[in-house]
Amino acid sequence: MYSYSVASHSTRVLRVRVKDRHVDWLSQLAREVNTVWNYCNDLQGRVFERERKFLTGYDFWPYLKGSTRGDCALQLPVQAVQETAEQYARSRKQHRKVRLAWRKSGGARRSLGWVPFKVRTIRYEHGQVYFAGRWLSVWDSWGLHAYELRAGSFSEDARGRWYLNVSVEVKRPAQQQPAHVDAIGIDLGLKELAALSDGSKVAAERFYRDLEPALATAHRAAKKRRVQAIHAKIANRRKDFLHKMTTTLARRHGVICVGDVNAKALARGPHAKSVLDASWSAMRTMLRYKCADAGAWFVEVPEGGTSRMCCACGAMCGPQGVEGLSVRQWSCVVCATTHDRDVNAARNILARGLAILQEQFAAAGEARADEAAVNEIGGLHDRSVGAGHGPPAVGIPVH
Ligand SMILES: [Zn+2]
Repeated sequence: MYSYSVASHSTRVLRVRVKDRHVDWLSQLAREVNTVWNYCNDLQGRVFERERKFLTGYDFWPYLKGSTRGDCALQLPVQAVQETAEQYARSRKQHRKVRLAWRKSGGARRSLGWVPFKVRTIRYEHGQVYFAGRWLSVWDSWGLHAYELRAGSFSEDARGRWYLNVSVEVKRPAQQQPAHVDAIGIDLGLKELAALSDGSKVAAERFYRDLEPALATAHRAAKKRRVQAIHAKIANRRKDFLHKMTTTLARRHGVICVGDVNAKALARGPHAKSVLDASWSAMRTMLRYKCADAGAWFVEVPEGGTSRMCCACGAMCGPQGVEGLSVRQWSCVVCATTHDRDVNAARNILARGLAILQEQFAAAGEARADEAAVNEIGGLHDRSVGAGHGPPAVGIPVH
């Protein structure tokens, strides 16, 4: 459900893939991180035995001072060494243990590579990331140049691929000017991924279907790595597509209303694969935060009856139930308007969403009036209230 947002900044972690030619070098750094981690673990154990004392992240610093200098210096920048010690101290405290597990650089139970870094340790220029004296090429799916890169880590996944995870601060722009506020309703579905209240549709991308033969072959041949790779490919395609679509929607519209259809409930039925393909909940999550970033409104709307109701006259005469799913077009018996099933639903979702927003604004208005009264009594006139979004002005063009 929609909520009032006070923050004008939010922190987000962006993840981009590092190109494979850097894998060896990053793995080498990860071994160094493991060495630092294990050194801290060992030191903590000995200090505890002698003094019954726990070390903080800073306590480790003097012991690690020499590690990045001299003949057998680590390649890691000193900030990465410090960050490793601090992360060690944090995890140890969190797990309430005297010692943690050792990080293993080899063998069957090798720890997946991980290289943490602090703020101002990495730099981004011309599509490359500078870290520890090297320029790394990445698949920049986020447009990193637009962000100020802060702390983060490099990490390896189970398939040996490396990623840069970096936290960034995202500024939330002020509420859009009323002239640009444009509301849209979205009906999430099986046949189309989404139908929009402006009449357009987003085709359900069959992320799975065209890879199904390859997946079946790999399964039969018991090629575990191949199966893993295909699943990862499907997931990547889906995520990429959803990101592009939701970004466009959030940029174009000031109000976005989406039905609360529950993918889990439908996934048990015969439509399971299509539903999973469609990834409704992922899409809603993306829309929610992208709307927040774009200064747009996001409203989740109870869907019940939205495909049955005629959006022109409100009569409940549309197709019903599972059989109704095959009916794509219908005409209202009361007002004779011809409807596309999903677009009609999207329009009803939009109308409901706007009604919900109006209610919330009314409630917020009352709260503000109450608070103003309290402030008058207390003489606190200058206290600002209702930071964040204001209600969208009247005259929202509705599709
Ligand atoms: Zn009608």
